[in-house]
Amino acid sequence: MSHIFPRHCKANPPVIARGEGVYLYDQSGKQYLDGSGGAAVSCLGHGDAQVTAAIKAQLDRVAFAHTGFFTSEPAEQLADALIARAPEGIERVYLVSGGSEAMEAALKLARQYFVERGEGQRRHVIARRQSYHGNTLGALATGGNEWRRAPFAPLMVETSHIAPCYAYRGQQDGESPETYGLRVADELETEIKRLGEDSVFAFVAEPVVGATLGAVAPVPGYFKRIREICDRYGVLLILDEVMCGMGRTGTLFACEQDGVRPDIIAVAKGLGAGYQPIGAMLCSGAIYDTIASGSGFFQHGHTYVGHPTTAAAALAVLQRLTDDGLVNRAAEMGDRLKTALIEAFGDHPHVGDIRGRGLFLGLEIVQDPDSKAPFAPELAKNKALKKAAFEAGLICYPMGGTIDGRRGDHILLAPPFILEDQHIDEIVGKLQIAFDQCL
Ligand code: PLP
Repeated sequence: MSHIFPRHCKANPPVIARGEGVYLYDQSGKQYLDGSGGAAVSCLGHGDAQVTAAIKAQLDRVAFAHTGFFTSEPAEQLADALIARAPEGIERVYLVSGGSEAMEAALKLARQYFVERGEGQRRHVIARRQSYHGNTLGALATGGNEWRRAPFAPLMVETSHIAPCYAYRGQQDGESPETYGLRVADELETEIKRLGEDSVFAFVAEPVVGATLGAVAPVPGYFKRIREICDRYGVLLILDEVMCGMGRTGTLFACEQDGVRPDIIAVAKGLGAGYQPIGAMLCSGAIYDTIASGSGFFQHGHTYVGHPTTAAAALAVLQRLTDDGLVNRAAEMGDRLKTALIEAFGDHPHVGDIRGRGLFLGLEIVQDPDSKAPFAPELAKNKALKKAAFEAGLICYPMGGTIDGRRGDHILLAPPFILEDQHIDEIVGKLQIAFDQCL
């Protein structure tokens, strides 16, 4: 009997043996194309020699030294490299161990910023429905994913949720994408006014929504309006790029494509590319200066904050992404994969939408593309598709975002940026097998 507490208690997953390039191999020797990079993690694929060498070199120097006593070269260099490429105004980096920690740190920093400014009455966060920001209690409270929140709701800080920017379902007949974007962005202003004009400290959103909706990008102008509203009411804009950041959408930071200037950004997944568990919270110089000239101490911290080995790995990952042109490759190969998906499934009777940016792509599965009616939740099409694709040797990441109060079916594709044209053919071919079996 295994003593592991598994992700799903009834699951009996194969044992992973090794990884190479875009492929994973289990102990029986079966090969799987990692079409989702786990959950948008493995942006460099498996067995990257440069990243592995950087980790080994750091381990030979020193594995760990507590940030209460030391800083480290890899942490300093990583922070410099991130800030050199970050949106204007972002000046400081706080290194953590993953996405939930990055979001938790972001929320606490935003709140502390206002407390230090003497605006402690700002105690509300506004986020969006159909979003996921992590599984720790603060991040979970911010997420708008009902079924994840339900068991813990009594323990969580109260958060308001407005509509996401989800044109496939939200845009009305005769409405332009731009008008739709402004309409849903304006829900933020309505909610701020309802809560009290000086009582909200942050608005939280993923620039491109990941697992919950399957790679939903905003319409043009949406985030510009969000920024205007945040500025009007002095609310901090926290962008969660844990899944969509680090080149996944074809630019290092996803928000670059929307021309929006956040106050705080959270990144993780692709930052460590699966080689080490690391995340980062990046914040503006203004926020940092307020704390630095106030209490001088961010009331936060975990033992592994700024861990040198994870930072060395992330620095090597960042070099591969930028110096070796892999972010551009994500944009280029993403276009090709999207075109191939549209060619193969654009007219499929149960594919309602094919969407996303770069190598962050989603397919929305529906019972009827005309009415956009989802399949009945008890059919659990997302789980069936995941299983059939896995059996065929393809890892994809199916999710069930809530649609009109019911769970829908989405498939997220987020393969490593090193994929080649033949891998695109393989992804499409294996998805076809899964669709033929399940739809
Ligand atoms: N934010 C987003 C957008 C995510 O997709 C995730 C994880 O899927 C998280 C936060 C939480 O990250 P982690 O699982 O590393 O804690």
